[in-house]
Amino acid sequence: MAFNKRVKIKELLEKDYIGQEVTLMGWVRTKRSNKNVSFIALNDGSSITNFQIVADPNIINEELLKRATTGACLKIKGKIVASQGAGQQAELNAETIEVLGDADPEKYPLQPKKHSLEFLREIAHLRMRTNTFGAVFRVRHALAFAVHKYFNDKGFFYIHTPIITASDAEGAGETFKVTTLDLKKPPLNEDGSINFKEDFFERETNLTVSGQLEGELAAMGLADIYTFGPTFRAENSNTARHLAEFWMIEPEMAFYDAEDNQNLAEDFLKYVINYALENCKDDLEFLDKRAAEEENAKKADQRSELGLLERLRFVVENEFQRLTYTEAIDILKNSNHNKKKKFQYLVENWGVDLQSEHERYLVEKHFKKPVILTDYPKEIKAFYMRQNDDGKTVAAMDILFPGIGEIVGGSQREERLEKLTQRMEEMHIPTEEMWWYLDTRRFGSTPHAGFGLGFERLVLFVTGMGNIRDVIAFPRTPGHAEF
Ligand code: ATP
Ligand code: MN
Repeated sequence: MAFNKRVKIKELLEKDYIGQEVTLMGWVRTKRSNKNVSFIALNDGSSITNFQIVADPNIINEELLKRATTGACLKIKGKIVASQGAGQQAELNAETIEVLGDADPEKYPLQPKKHSLEFLREIAHLRMRTNTFGAVFRVRHALAFAVHKYFNDKGFFYIHTPIITASDAEGAGETFKVTTLDLKKPPLNEDGSINFKEDFFERETNLTVSGQLEGELAAMGLADIYTFGPTFRAENSNTARHLAEFWMIEPEMAFYDAEDNQNLAEDFLKYVINYALENCKDDLEFLDKRAAEEENAKKADQRSELGLLERLRFVVENEFQRLTYTEAIDILKNSNHNKKKKFQYLVENWGVDLQSEHERYLVEKHFKKPVILTDYPKEIKAFYMRQNDDGKTVAAMDILFPGIGEIVGGSQREERLEKLTQRMEEMHIPTEEMWWYLDTRRFGSTPHAGFGLGFERLVLFVTGMGNIRDVIAFPRTPGHAEF
């Protein structure tokens, strides 16, 4: 029999195995013993639920049982029987136990007690073995799968855009340089600047901040495409919503206008959230309770009105509020919050960029639902956004979520060559270097649109976790690149 011929706990919970001989493998969460018997709660990662192993010291060698401490990895054979105790339907009567890996209780850092999320971040190599992170990463997986399923079902093609690029797509943020030059003595030009002609790519390169520009190229042939890949931003923002390495989903659609784009984004978000609701029930119920405990520790006026599951259902069942930037500025300017100077950045003039406190005010206090904000001033948005007829705004859309702020940023793209080059010149973006991008507007141009969804912000929303560092396996943030 193959070593790994085992039954997963998830399957034991879903199907009737009573009376059958099975092999389980997994990690000990807890062990309780009395004179007559030991109970081991085993977890194998397939489910949040532990499976109860009953070990009779007359059958299982006592020395062996002693080694079954929290964290140890076991292979157990035995028969599934109906459980005597409350709390579970079935349990396994152990016939043989093999210790695959000991975990010295004196040294193993994870104990059955509650550890803080901050502490667990420092032992990110072990945190997958906790209930919370098991749940988070199973939900993350389900969401990633739902993303591919949604687009595949709609006839979109998955494009892998480059990770090393020579363009700072949109000036979206500070980039990480990619080079093989000797940092101690790089080759120099006569004027003292670095001679990148001698670098690996014979030009300056960096890690991508977005796959959009290449996504657009693909959409101009395949029509409906999406990317789902890592992006890198060296922004030094030490917030609970920013990572230096994060995953972004970027659909790009030929023949879509701004409204089509909004419709797709709303439908897509509802689909993936609903997918998690339907496929991650146990994990989300666990996370719902975890979030409720965290809420209860807050002051009454800072608690959110809805629990996690209620919030997810609310988003799936209600229409997002759509309004323009101009309308939003009016609401913010005239809000009591602004008048009483409760914003850190007061809203006075049309044209200012919205801070996350403003976005959250609109979503959490004013509309109390997700908001799609459109038609931003062109000065605060990227060069490729389609210019509106008013000469002041562009066909941008940001989607704002409760507790998160911006979750999606997108736009209808400028498909008119002249308008695009004129805007690039105004913004000092070198048009010669971007010849390939402009070629799509020279040859067979068409209205098209797309958006970028920060995957970790979605996972943050769906799991109800408070910090983006807790929804990616090994977070990269300023000062942190361990594991
Ligand atoms: P923000 O204003 O929140 O920093 P942004 O305007 O820089 O975001 P975009 O360039 O529009 O973001 O990127 C698209 C999406 O990528 C955002 O809506 C967000 O969900 C996500 N995102 C952007 N920056 C980060 C980051 N540093 N870490 C995680 N997700 C991010
Ligand atoms: Mn944005």
